[in-house]
Amino acid sequence: MSKAQTYKYEADMEQLMHLIAHSMYSDQEAFVRELISNAADAKEKYDLLSLKEGLEPQDHCIYVDVDKDKRSFVIKDTGVGMSHDEIVAHLGTVAKSGTKTFLSKLKEAKEDQKSSLIGQFGIGFYSSFVVADKVTVHSRKAGSPEDQAVLWSSDGIANYSVAYENKSEVGTTVTLHLREDESLDKFLQHWQVRQIIANWSNHLDIPVMMAKQGEDESGYEQVNDANALWAQEPKEISEEAYQNFYQALTHDSGQAMTYDHKHVQTMNVAFTSLMYIPAKAPMDIYFRDYSKKGLKLYVSRVFIMDEAEQFLPSYLRFVKGVIDCGDLPLNVSREMLQSNAKIKSIKSSCTKQVLKMVAKLAKDKADDFKTFWNEFGAVLKEGAAQDFSNRDAILKLLRFNSTQGSMVSLDDYVKNMKEGQDKIYYLIAENEQIAKHSPHVERYRQKGYDVLLLTDRVDPFMMNTLKDYESKQFHSVAQPDDAVKDEKLEKASEEAQKEHQGDIDRIKAVLSEKVSDVKFTARLVSAPSSMVAGSDEMSPHMYRLLKESGQPVPEFKPVLELNPKHTLVKKLLAEQSDKAFEQISLVLFDQALLSEGGQLDDPNVFIERMNELLA
Ligand code: ADP
Ligand code: MG
Repeated sequence: MSKAQTYKYEADMEQLMHLIAHSMYSDQEAFVRELISNAADAKEKYDLLSLKEGLEPQDHCIYVDVDKDKRSFVIKDTGVGMSHDEIVAHLGTVAKSGTKTFLSKLKEAKEDQKSSLIGQFGIGFYSSFVVADKVTVHSRKAGSPEDQAVLWSSDGIANYSVAYENKSEVGTTVTLHLREDESLDKFLQHWQVRQIIANWSNHLDIPVMMAKQGEDESGYEQVNDANALWAQEPKEISEEAYQNFYQALTHDSGQAMTYDHKHVQTMNVAFTSLMYIPAKAPMDIYFRDYSKKGLKLYVSRVFIMDEAEQFLPSYLRFVKGVIDCGDLPLNVSREMLQSNAKIKSIKSSCTKQVLKMVAKLAKDKADDFKTFWNEFGAVLKEGAAQDFSNRDAILKLLRFNSTQGSMVSLDDYVKNMKEGQDKIYYLIAENEQIAKHSPHVERYRQKGYDVLLLTDRVDPFMMNTLKDYESKQFHSVAQPDDAVKDEKLEKASEEAQKEHQGDIDRIKAVLSEKVSDVKFTARLVSAPSSMVAGSDEMSPHMYRLLKESGQPVPEFKPVLELNPKHTLVKKLLAEQSDKAFEQISLVLFDQALLSEGGQLDDPNVFIERMNELLA
């Protein structure tokens, strides 16, 4: 053994270790799942490497040993192993950007959510320190000589050390010394461990071995089934087996919301898909480069790659599962996947399969569907904007809040339309509160029309691409519409407009920097003012979104609409002093902006003005 070098964990790591050791007791079994899955990953990586670099193929096994007296729990694999540098990189640093996010999420999370965060953010190995006060990892990388093997060890507090130490076989042995804590003794009982292991690894494509028990027994025996679940016939698989497989696959400690398993034969390709919809969205699903999208790809049960995102469009990135396609070459690369005709065919088929799964949920399980919609609805909406070939199927799945209800589908909306109504009315706004109180919505509500209230970030983009549903046009209530036109009021406001043309020109002069036009309108009921886009401009809300996202946007000047019946507007028209006239005009503009959900350039100036007016 070479002299061990001691390293201090990065500050972030130290913090992470501390949190793990002190706040994650709720899911003690996590470490078993994580270490077994690392060993299984290592086997898959070995097989891949042996394909590429001609290493000797191996019959891989995972060995698990426990020793009550030493309080040790040992997992040994024959997988790819780690070199000196790899072990430092993988086990000593916050290597993945996700881990940093994890740290901040962990601090906010409720007790019962903490353990499920471990799997989501891939800090799997460190779950060892929930139960252990010392962990050693002895590893020899495939293809490297015996004396280049490394021994990593840590007490999980501040330091870890790394030394070279001979190892006769390729692979990794992880040894945990369990804390002196009675609640952990179950992990030292052979039979209990055997049960836990079987639970987690039954469907892994690798045998897990434990020592035979009994007076004159020696040697090891297999404790899991080691069959690839997806290769079996769906009708022979139990619900429980599917859910166990889901947990082993995703490290999710909860159950999948729903799943679908098929052996598919299309014109040009045969494949098996087993796809799950989780019950909860991961924290980072809206991050631009959401890292865990995609399915696992196998070729005839040989693992090829994780996160193969080519099999589903990005708006279905919440789906987890496995694709096994025996028609692909074993050395298929991500690049090849992009241009392969078979992949296109699989993608199209899987997309339809998922949409059907969701439709079935909507039809048969309203409660689950509601949960689904709350978790993933906004992601699915991206598909309404992007996927023309499946648009109809997606539109049927959309649900909305409206002035009259919640979870309203477009079919519901159309069915409940008023007699003579030929459009689907909607409003896009910053949030539900603003939408409900929007002056635009008021008149529709009064006349008994339902209005869909759209408040997701993706909504403006989606509505930009949607023209109609069942030949009913989508119509924003921020735009004028005949349905809510009141002839008498229109006329009155036209007359008011004529009569006060001089005042309007004065207001326009005051606001010339901010608005393109000022009009009297009969559309407003209780609000004094509101803001609309010119007829062929984008909405103020859309404008703000584009600006926030850093896109170049044309100069934007809305039309300011005034309610001639409102006291404040009447006051304005009667105002003699120039100064006060200017103040009131500005207040009316700011109010319109606020009720749209916009932000004032300087709230203090607004408050001062209001105070002056009130005084
Ligand atoms: P994840 O498995 O999500 O990457 P882990 O914390 O479980 O995160 O493991 C970190 C990394 O350490 C793995 O990605 C892998 O590169 C390496 N590793 C862990 N255990 C093993 C093992 N038994 N054999 C080879 N490499 C391993
Ligand atoms: Mg892992």
